[in-house]
Amino acid sequence: MLNQIQGIHHVTSLASSPVANNRFFTEALGLRRVKTTVNFDAPEVYHLYYGDEVGTPGSVMTYFPRPNSARGKAGVGEIGTTSFVIPVGTSGAWQKRLAEFRVAGISSDTRFGEARVLFSGPDGESLALVERDDSRTPWTGGGVSQDMAIRGFHSASMRLRDGGASAELLRFMGYEEIGTEGTVTRFAIAGGNPANAIDIETVAGGKRAKQGAGSVHHIAFSVANAEAQRAVRKALIETGYQVTPSIDRDYFQAIYFRSPGGILFEVATDEPGFDRDEDRASLGTALKLPKQHEHLRAELEAELEPLD
Ligand code: ZN
Repeated sequence: MLNQIQGIHHVTSLASSPVANNRFFTEALGLRRVKTTVNFDAPEVYHLYYGDEVGTPGSVMTYFPRPNSARGKAGVGEIGTTSFVIPVGTSGAWQKRLAEFRVAGISSDTRFGEARVLFSGPDGESLALVERDDSRTPWTGGGVSQDMAIRGFHSASMRLRDGGASAELLRFMGYEEIGTEGTVTRFAIAGGNPANAIDIETVAGGKRAKQGAGSVHHIAFSVANAEAQRAVRKALIETGYQVTPSIDRDYFQAIYFRSPGGILFEVATDEPGFDRDEDRASLGTALKLPKQHEHLRAELEAELEPLD
């Protein structure tokens, strides 16, 4: 069993309008856009990162928004719901705020003893806010006060036809099963970061998801540094997984592999972080390009829709 993985690092999803995406995450949810860059593998598409003040691993929701792209179809073999932590007692205030922003699909329930607000993102993605005591310092520059602002991720759910092999993978990664409620089994990493939970939601006979705007593209798990990542990569390969070499994503190093249920997993380093090429005060304000795409700057600046 591995002991290097600390919980979620980031979750990356697909979107259509970058403007609507930016407005939703920075205004309705009040997160900070900590990096404005492009998809390193498709530089004509933005890569937008939203999180706390500095984009602490475990707080960062990221998007590849491609204007006018078709919506995905929810199904099995993908991340179902991405959940964020809100302070205990703020569900009602959040439901009111989301309604004021005309957010679709607002409902509430309780899962594993925690109150939860469910809602849809601008491309129909399934998002949730979960009440929990959490000492992380929230970003309050987006118009949501300290007493209700999002603290970072809570968990993500994997929607699978059969969760058995994925449960085994999570255990190998250091997660422990902590309980089952209905068709959902929760796993958590003891001593991990505050985004330390993953749910497996079993949908027997479920149809396979079709990826498009609103779908999660991949989920990234956090490791401290390149050395920890090398150990994880070696162990995964020895277990039979096909893992990419470590790829430089400028703000972290990434390796990727496919989980048994078909979900793309990444293992990303906490180093060097989002403030490596911008001051903390101005994070996310300038279009940052990796050096291999810097020669495209004039073209990209003319083609990418302004966000603010
Ligand atoms: Zn990623």
